[in-house]
Amino acid sequence: MTHPNKSAKENTEHIDAAVIGAGFAGLYAVYKLRELGLTLRAFEKGTDVGGTWYWNRYPGASSDSESWVYSFSFSEELEQDWTWSKRFPEQPEILHYLQHVADRFDLRTAFQFETSVTNAAYDESTNRWLVTTDRGERFSATYLVTAVGCLSAAQVPDISGREKFQGLSYHTGEWPHETIDFNGKRVGVIGTGSSGIQAIPVIAKTAKHLTVFQRTPNFSVPSRNTALSAERVGEIKRNIKDIREFCRWSTIGQPYDFKQEEALQLKPEAVEEQLESDWQKGGFEWMFGSYSDLVFNKEANDLAADFVRNKIRSVVSDPKTAERLIPQGYPIASKRLPLDQGYFETFNRDNVTLVDLRETPIESIVERGVQTNETVHELDVLVFATGFDALTGPLTRIDIRGRDGQSLKEKWSHGPSTYLGVASRGFPNMFMITGPGSPSVLGNMPTSIEQHVDWICDCITHMREAGTTTIEPDAKAEETWGAHVQELANDTLFVQVDSWYLGANIPGKPRVFLPYIGGFGAYRTLCNKVAEKGYEGFALN
Ligand SMILES: Cc1cc2nc3c(=O)[nH]c(=O)nc-3n(C[C@H](O)[C@H](O)[C@H](O)COP(=O)(O)OP(=O)(O)OC[C@H]3O[C@@H](n4cnc5c(N)ncnc54)[C@H](O)[C@@H]3O)c2cc1C
Repeated sequence: MTHPNKSAKENTEHIDAAVIGAGFAGLYAVYKLRELGLTLRAFEKGTDVGGTWYWNRYPGASSDSESWVYSFSFSEELEQDWTWSKRFPEQPEILHYLQHVADRFDLRTAFQFETSVTNAAYDESTNRWLVTTDRGERFSATYLVTAVGCLSAAQVPDISGREKFQGLSYHTGEWPHETIDFNGKRVGVIGTGSSGIQAIPVIAKTAKHLTVFQRTPNFSVPSRNTALSAERVGEIKRNIKDIREFCRWSTIGQPYDFKQEEALQLKPEAVEEQLESDWQKGGFEWMFGSYSDLVFNKEANDLAADFVRNKIRSVVSDPKTAERLIPQGYPIASKRLPLDQGYFETFNRDNVTLVDLRETPIESIVERGVQTNETVHELDVLVFATGFDALTGPLTRIDIRGRDGQSLKEKWSHGPSTYLGVASRGFPNMFMITGPGSPSVLGNMPTSIEQHVDWICDCITHMREAGTTTIEPDAKAEETWGAHVQELANDTLFVQVDSWYLGANIPGKPRVFLPYIGGFGAYRTLCNKVAEKGYEGFALN
């Protein structure tokens, strides 16, 4: 706390590094920066560690990554001691894991909780970052490390009358800590992205009635989540080093990768048989451990899309509802592909209604519920499963100012500009963990996070050894990287749909493909080469 009689300058605490965020990224950054012997302070809005898994406590919240890789690999002892109960870990277990990591490595002591970083300004004269919090404290840091997450800025749609609703309303990404009882309640869910698809089957089981408001039908693949047997756990633990190494160099950081053959080179019956067999296994492997042309070639993608469309028809009893649920007009997996546990089956329940917003759009939210152009859907609880201002939102919601007071938000007003997704010109000594222009959300994020933190710490070590005090990207390197990120995306089907990967869920957000789509392994190679060549593309002074 600041002393009332001291000037702001005197009250400024000097540290080597300021870290923002206490999710996977912030925790690992604190661990590694401490190892380097840096003095640091870390800040977190929430009351505890966990990030995504602290905030997203909605019913059914779960990871779609296989548990044994959705975790840290930096400590062999941690890896061997911790045992996941299920193939896909659920929110309480992941939160427990991150709390365990924080305790085990004494990371909480670095953090100041219930503290938002509101401003961070680079001071050219001192070559330091002045970090200000919503508590009015000031910290002067050599390095600014943002671990703010890619999906931490919850987005509520601008529907008129929201404040008038007399019932309870929640955003899935800012879920309350107490259990919400849906028993006997009329519940509405707006949004059928990954969070909605996870929450809907669970809410339907207890709600008196559930109304699902769907704007865009979504593809979804069954997760077939199961408990891990002691035998399976033993096998994973024995092989974990190899599994991790495979993930590091794979396309999406998961323990599967594309098959050698392409679907279009095979007979349709053979492809169908393979898709069916992978469908029974569940998980992302169905798409991302399958033929690579499914992601890149529209004709091949249609095979997978039609396969899912037929599955929806076979599961949903009412043909009209089935047709409303079937996605049309965009390639499968070009939007974030959800995994589900009985999502389509939920629409066979008597207590569930699907409202297709393309036929009957929402006009406003009223006291009693949601008003469409047809009727008022009366509700006691309204759930916004409406996603996030992804990748850029968590950074631009902080007033970050670089050289000459330039604001990051203004610099990125036409789309984010970064080098390797880790740094941005004009913002010296600021490092972003899984920033826009890095693979981040296109795969298993802990794999990405560890790579980024390791790279950043190696870079800081290099600077300290070389006596270098400032690092920032060259204009040319940043421009070339931005063009490369867009070029790679333009070669895929991902740009053929409006998705949050392109910022399309946020009114006015420039349509720019945000993550790097060249694959985790390829990206790691590029980052390593940059470092080997003395941080090529960066100006070090
Ligand atoms: C519902 C859901 C499911 C997901 N499933 C998967 C999955 O299956 N596989 C996968 O790889 N990834 C998944 N993700 C992505 C997930 O975000 C990452 O896996 C991972 O948790 C990111 O960790 P992080 O530390 O980078 O960010 P986060 O966990 O988002 O943590 C960032 C933290 O920074 C804090 N923060 C932000 N701004 C400020 C500020 N100004 N001041 C103070 N604190 C601030 C936030 O409060 C937050 O706690 C999922 C995300 C969601 C929302």
